[in-house]
Amino acid sequence: MPTKRRGLVAVALGACLTLALPLHTGSARPDPQSAPDRVVFEITAPTPHERTRVAATGVDVLGQTGDKLTVIAERRQQWSLRATGLPMRSLGDADAQLAALGEVDFTDPEVGAQDFPSGYTGYHNYAEMVAELNQTVTDHSNLVRLSSIGKSYQNRDLWMIKVSDNPGADEAEPEVLFTCNQHAREHLTVEMCLHIVKRFTDGYATNSSIRNLVDSREIWIIPSVNPDGSEYDIATGSFRAWRKNRQPNSTSTGTDPNRNWGWQWGCCGGSSSSGSSETYRGTAAFSAPETARVRDFVNTRVVGGVQQIKTHIDWHTFSELILWPYGYTYNDTAPGLDATQAQVFSTLGRQMAALNGYTPQQASDLYITDGSVDDWMWGQHKIWSYTFEMYPASASGTSGFYPRDSVIAAQTSRNDSAVDLFLNYSDCPPRIIGRTC
Ligand SMILES: [Zn+2]
Repeated sequence: MPTKRRGLVAVALGACLTLALPLHTGSARPDPQSAPDRVVFEITAPTPHERTRVAATGVDVLGQTGDKLTVIAERRQQWSLRATGLPMRSLGDADAQLAALGEVDFTDPEVGAQDFPSGYTGYHNYAEMVAELNQTVTDHSNLVRLSSIGKSYQNRDLWMIKVSDNPGADEAEPEVLFTCNQHAREHLTVEMCLHIVKRFTDGYATNSSIRNLVDSREIWIIPSVNPDGSEYDIATGSFRAWRKNRQPNSTSTGTDPNRNWGWQWGCCGGSSSSGSSETYRGTAAFSAPETARVRDFVNTRVVGGVQQIKTHIDWHTFSELILWPYGYTYNDTAPGLDATQAQVFSTLGRQMAALNGYTPQQASDLYITDGSVDDWMWGQHKIWSYTFEMYPASASGTSGFYPRDSVIAAQTSRNDSAVDLFLNYSDCPPRIIGRTC
């Protein structure tokens, strides 16, 4: 059992799927003599149908690379994983890998009471994120408006910042929404949203292409959809690899926000009805307050019967993928998504991927998910909605969620040209295949 190895073997991981490492207490390291509670496995699953079978066992799917899925299986899940009959091999104790990532050094003056460990202090915890947003308001009051769309389960404000010229006015401009941190442990996504805010405010005075975009769009950014889970993930001083929100359920804690949206919710084996699962879908669509508040905001943007938000990106880690609807069906087209629309999704997705080096595909090419935000944004509102799975492309068991803060600058700015292309087409994405709106 490899302990305290930081890079470990490069394995395959893919789209932020799930991961559960419950109560891993900060500094406690597993007894090497006992069988680990949670084991990382690499499963060979070349087709979407096989990957869906793996996900349906309830294991925490960390990511995908090529024909391999990397998952964390609790003891009770390991037999059902083996029952898939797919080739699998153990990559070791998940908790030991997490413990090896680092612990908070409370003697470090940069580290607060609830904060990231050494090597990660460049990441923003919730208080630092709020401070950064407020500083942006101070620095660029002519370009931004900060508001709360409501509260998380634990009563934290869900902050949203609007970036536009004349931000206090509802102008006749295409609206674009960026959401980050639905999944708690995907901390790099908070940095991505903050990077977008910073770039389109600090760059406004000197960069004419940024100025043109800000002048012609209304950009909404929600840097943390799941602040409770994110704070919980760092609360003990070492990472828990927590994914869900912190809402109690009948057997455990947490709803997976990205299985809780109300389009084909729970339809298709792409989420779990078990409260202990990392993909627990909740008791009903929008049973999680966090998804409900984002829904409420998006619904308010229907003005005069027309949805003002044209495009949306939901940021996740990891696997370096660009995904588009639908996730609930393998089919390229389905009710509400015709062949021309599928071609628009695919064409814009591929052009963005050419700029950031990610792999573009329909969401269900990975495996089936139901109740995802992209399916709802498109199904309910015809918002052109993408999921970006950020850096790294692959990683050992849990380390993919926890790249050092030294990568933040490169891995956020890596998406600048893709985001610019996205904003450019946000008046009418069908333009990308020569259609009009
Ligand atoms: Zn995710």
